[in-house]
Amino acid sequence: MMKMKSEDGLLSVCEKCRMKKQRSAAKGKANRLVHTLLLVICFMASMTPAVAQQNSDRISLGFGCLYERGLDVTLSYEHETKYHNAWEYFANGYIKWDECASCGHVCPESFWNNYRSYGFGFAYKPCVARGRNHHGNMRIGASVGSDTDRFLGGIHLGYEHNYTLRHGWKLFWQVKTDVMIKGEDLFRTGIVLGVKLPVK
Ligand SMILES: [Zn+2]
Repeated sequence: MMKMKSEDGLLSVCEKCRMKKQRSAAKGKANRLVHTLLLVICFMASMTPAVAQQNSDRISLGFGCLYERGLDVTLSYEHETKYHNAWEYFANGYIKWDECASCGHVCPESFWNNYRSYGFGFAYKPCVARGRNHHGNMRIGASVGSDTDRFLGGIHLGYEHNYTLRHGWKLFWQVKTDVMIKGEDLFRTGIVLGVKLPVK
């Protein structure tokens, strides 16, 4: 009776062992499948934003310091096509401050009311440098606008460097020269810093 019991016990242990082995083999297969799936998902996740970023539209806001005594703001709608090439449609406001004739300083009056102009235009921005999270574009554009009493035309030449952030946001800096036809100053050369946020 004792022997039978132990034999029975032995058998049941063996059976358990076998089932355990089977289960762990199945588990191993499942693990490999999960790993493969995760790899595929990771791969797709890493590819999808790159594809999405190539064809996308952004609102861009840039603030510029221009020689001499000039500041400008540019609000743009940017449409990015293939390979980071882009079209930009922009509105630009510009002020040039001066020392005040009456108080001899740069005061609010002489800052805001010395000279102002605005313009609307577009630019083509071919991509000329690409990196993993950044790219550089030439910026070639034209605009029409006005200052306080005249019609103005503008030709815009520059270079823009973009840094891609999370969720399609970008930071950029620009070096640019605006050639203003009939403006108070012919050349406005300077640096712009800005941000772009995705709209679709
Ligand atoms: Zn003043």
